[in-house]
Amino acid sequence: MAPFSISEIKKKIEDFPKKNLIHLPTPLQKLENLSQELGGPEIYMKRDDLTGLAFGGNKSRKLEFIIQDVLSKKADAIITWASLQSNWCLQTAAAARKFGIKPILLLFKTYDLPEEYDGNLLLDYILDADVIIKEAEKGKAVRIGDILDMVEAVEDEVKELGHTPYVAPIGGSMVGGSMEKPLGAISYVNAFVELLEQAGKQGLEINYVIHSSGSGGTQGGLAVGAKALKEDMKVLGISVSEDKESYGKEVLTIAQDTVKALNLDLAVEKEDIIIFDEYIKEGYGILNKEVSDALRLVAIKEGIFLDPVYTGKAMAALIDLVKKGYFKKEDKIVFFHTGGTPALFPNKQHLVNFLKK
Ligand SMILES: *Cc1c(COP(=O)(O)O)cnc(C)c1O
Repeated sequence: MAPFSISEIKKKIEDFPKKNLIHLPTPLQKLENLSQELGGPEIYMKRDDLTGLAFGGNKSRKLEFIIQDVLSKKADAIITWASLQSNWCLQTAAAARKFGIKPILLLFKTYDLPEEYDGNLLLDYILDADVIIKEAEKGKAVRIGDILDMVEAVEDEVKELGHTPYVAPIGGSMVGGSMEKPLGAISYVNAFVELLEQAGKQGLEINYVIHSSGSGGTQGGLAVGAKALKEDMKVLGISVSEDKESYGKEVLTIAQDTVKALNLDLAVEKEDIIIFDEYIKEGYGILNKEVSDALRLVAIKEGIFLDPVYTGKAMAALIDLVKKGYFKKEDKIVFFHTGGTPALFPNKQHLVNFLKK
C-alpha cells in the first residue's frame, strides 16, 4: 500500500491557494507510432505543453501558486531571472500581466543566440516586460550565487520607483527571494496526482515518468508525489545543465522542503532522486545532432513539436535508454512534455544545420 491516499494528498495541497491560469487536466496521450518505431516499452505523453498560458509549459502550473503568493503579499511587481530565451521568464511575464503585476526580467546570455526579437524574447517584448540583458558564461544555467548582487540592485531600483517587488527564484523551484514555500514543486505534486487519476481512468499502470530537469521544481514535486502515492513508480530526471551530484542535492532539498510544507510524514531520500547527466553533452541550451533528430522523429511520428533546450534533450535520452535496454518491453513510460516550443525559432540556424547533416 502507498503511504498516502490521493484524497489525503489533495487535501494537503488545498492548504495552498492558487489562481486559475491554465486548463487542467492536461491530456495524457499514448504515442502509438513512436512506441512502435522504438520497439521498446509503451510510451505516453503528458501534455503540459498544452496548459494554455502563453504557449504553455510546466512553469504555468507553478505560476498558479506563485501569482497567488505575489497577490497575497500585496506586491505589484515581480523580478525574476534566467537565460535569454527563458520559458520561465516568458510565462512569468504573461501570468504577471494578467493580474496587473509588472514583470521585470533579468536575462543572461548563457548561450550563443542573437539578441534579436525572436522566440520568447519576442513574446516578452509583446508583453511589454522590462527586460535587462546581461552577459554570462556559455553552456551553464544561471546560478543564484553568481547574480545575487544584480538582483538586489534591481530590487532597490524597483523600490525607488515606488513599487513593491516580489523576487521569484529561477524556475519557481528553490525556496528563496520572496517565495517561502516550494510552490513550484507543490504544483508538481498536484500534477502527479492529476496523472495518477488519469492513468486510473485509462486503466494504465505507469512504471516510469521521465522529464527534463533544470531548476528542480518539477522533479522535486514529481518525486514527492511518487514517494507518497506510488512508491514502485520511478521518476527519471534528465538534467540539462548540472552534474548529477550537485544537482541531485538541490532537487533533494526541494523535495524535502515540499514534504515539510505539505506536512507529510514521509522520508524522501537521495535514492529517490534519479538524475541522468550524460545527455547535457555540450552544455545548457546547446543543441546537438541527437536532440535535432529526436525533435524531427517526434514531429514526424506524432505531429508534436518538442523544444531544443529541454524536452528535446529528454527525448534524446529516452530514445537512448530504450536502445540500451534500460526498460522492459512491458513497461509503461510517461514522458512529460514540459513546453518550451517558442525556443525552436531563435535556434533555427543550429537546428537546420544539424538536420541537414
Ligand atoms: C524549466 C523547464 C524545464 C525544467 O523544469 P524545472 O522545474 O526547472 O526543473 C523543463 N522543460 C521546459 C520546457 C522548461 O521550460
